[in-house]
Amino acid sequence: MNIVLEVNNVYKSLSRREIIKGISFDVKEGEIFGFLGANGAGKTTTIRMLVGLIKPDKGNIRIMGYDIQKNLVKALKQVGSIVEYPDMYNDLTGRENLIIFSRMYGNVSKERIEEIIELIGLKDRIDDKVKKYSLGMKQRLGLGQALLPNPKLLILDEPTNGFDPLGIIEFRNIIKNLARENNTAIFISSHILAEIEQVCDRVAFIDKGIIKSIEYTNKLKNNEEYDKVELIVKEQAKGAELLGKLEYVKTIDILDNKILLSIEKEAFSKLIFDLGKNNIEVESINKLHQNLEGRFMQIVEEG
Ligand code: ATP
Repeated sequence: MNIVLEVNNVYKSLSRREIIKGISFDVKEGEIFGFLGANGAGKTTTIRMLVGLIKPDKGNIRIMGYDIQKNLVKALKQVGSIVEYPDMYNDLTGRENLIIFSRMYGNVSKERIEEIIELIGLKDRIDDKVKKYSLGMKQRLGLGQALLPNPKLLILDEPTNGFDPLGIIEFRNIIKNLARENNTAIFISSHILAEIEQVCDRVAFIDKGIIKSIEYTNKLKNNEEYDKVELIVKEQAKGAELLGKLEYVKTIDILDNKILLSIEKEAFSKLIFDLGKNNIEVESINKLHQNLEGRFMQIVEEG
């Protein structure tokens, strides 16, 4: 999978206070990446750098390979974003709003606009004036505006603020579709764990301007049957080979230097025993909490 957004060791101070302290991550095509942190953790400051509103003091940000410091216009051509409330004309219809915004991007075809209307689920109401829309509908229209240039990267800041529960579900489905069918890379910042857990493939935990951990969510959620273990061994290939032979190990995922396992409940001590018996040198081994909330708490406690 191609990398769409690359953030490399970025620092930023505001009013002489260091707010972002060397963050690095990437977001790949078709991936939904969550950026999770409490109020004041540094999410908005990061997003403002991603969309070129402020510059990093150190480090670099690349979008589809374009460095935003050197090639801002080309980089931003790849980006659609909803940061704060999207601007729209309340006295015009949803469709008219999309048409007006499409002119900013030059050649957006009629078909593309129809496609977007379908995608954001506003077909039945698109010819009503925006002032009659609910907040959720306005948010979806805002998403439609952001999608007009068919961006490779979509940046969403606290996207479901003010949505009703049904609106949240609809919004999630739209986002998932975009990633799966259009291969759009999606970056979502939020302080709401449940929101991130439901929709993201990977999540970065940011706290006081530092990314504490980046983890895959798929294996962490909805699976109470097995225990999750994170393992770092000196010789990864040798370790993985052994793990593949242990009958109580159910899944093995390799992420950089880590091996993530799901194992049968109560098998943790057996695992430690088998690693020792087979001379696998362990650098660290941790049983993970079952869900993201547990993981978040674990990271905060460790911090
Ligand atoms: P929230 O969810 O509340 O928006 P956040 O994670 O987006 O939080 P930021 O808005 O990025 O956090 O703020 C991070 C820290 O930087 C906060 O402590 C904030 O007070 C501080 N900060 C933000 N803007 C400035 C500024 N212009 N000058 C000085 N400090 C600032």
